[in-house]
Amino acid sequence: MYPAPFAYERPTSLGEAITALAADDARVLAGGHSLLTAVKSRATTPGTLVDVSELPSLAGVDRDDDGLWIGAASTYAALLADERVATVVPMLADALASIGDPQIRNRGTVGGNLVQADLGADLPPVALVADAVLTIHDEAGEHQREISDLYGEEVGADHEPAAGLGTSALLTGVEFPASDATGSAYVRRTHPATGYATVGVAARLWLDGDMIEELRLGATGLCRRPIRLTAVESAVRGQSIEDAASLATAHAPADVTSVDVHDDPNVSGSFRRTILGTVTAAAIDRASGVDE
Ligand SMILES: Cc1cc2nc3c(=O)[nH]c(=O)nc-3n(C[C@H](O)[C@H](O)[C@H](O)COP(=O)(O)OP(=O)(O)OC[C@H]3O[C@@H](n4cnc5c(N)ncnc54)[C@H](O)[C@@H]3O)c2cc1C
Repeated sequence: MYPAPFAYERPTSLGEAITALAADDARVLAGGHSLLTAVKSRATTPGTLVDVSELPSLAGVDRDDDGLWIGAASTYAALLADERVATVVPMLADALASIGDPQIRNRGTVGGNLVQADLGADLPPVALVADAVLTIHDEAGEHQREISDLYGEEVGADHEPAAGLGTSALLTGVEFPASDATGSAYVRRTHPATGYATVGVAARLWLDGDMIEELRLGATGLCRRPIRLTAVESAVRGQSIEDAASLATAHAPADVTSVDVHDDPNVSGSFRRTILGTVTAAAIDRASGVDE
């Protein structure tokens, strides 16, 4: 199937990009892996694609005492080649390395991944656990939003972005705040058909000796938006790290009792529910051995 006709713009400045996006039916184009598929199948028919993949203000990585800033158009491959990413946010490096294959990692962008937030996308749970802060530009100017604001209960159809940004808004950067956690990690089981995560869990852990002071967990693959695993977080707080695996397995089901867990012909919802505890336990285990 051929796409419906569309205009293509490649702005060279942030101002030009914002102006181009103000058109009614304009859409941001980054890596294009999700958007172009939808355009080709006419699941979506934008009038103008505004290509921001080469825009300098959306590129690069910056590290300071406050944390790690990542330009929204940074590709997964560029971030994996930057050792500051694995040093400051180990779970982010784990997640980036697990995405797709070399072609996907060479073109896919952090911004596209977080905005699209496909079922089983690897970066949204990491950003959620990290309390990432998004910098967004639109006609009203620049503003910041917490990542948790973006993934509401209501999400669009499969081909539509899950993040409630609005099509005229441009995500320019993502800040991963500095953390004094003992470690963090991301672990996933890969979907046999799509290559996305069947279930993936990001864990950030604070240990005092063997005792778990605090744990933050985020999961992907269960439903269209990433979720926090608060039942497991509460169950392990104040407990020994030795007991974390059994507590995670026992309490993970409580985190999905009210979630409509995704079913597909290759992986049932009940299988996803079943493996959530073991994937969570593996993420905690890996986080306990990784220094931040
Ligand atoms: C075969 C295949 C395998 C994949 N495997 C995985 C996987 O294992 N794990 C995983 O996490 N992902 C996977 N993906 C998804 C891939 O990582 C996509 O790149 C990602 O979902 C979208 O990123 P993109 O840069 O291609 O965005 P695009 O397709 O260009 O855009 C996606 C959406 O986000 C919007 N958007 C993009 N950038 C911005 C921005 N800066 N500001 C505002 N809106 C923006 C676009 O308008 C569009 O609506 C896979 C994709 C394919 C095709």
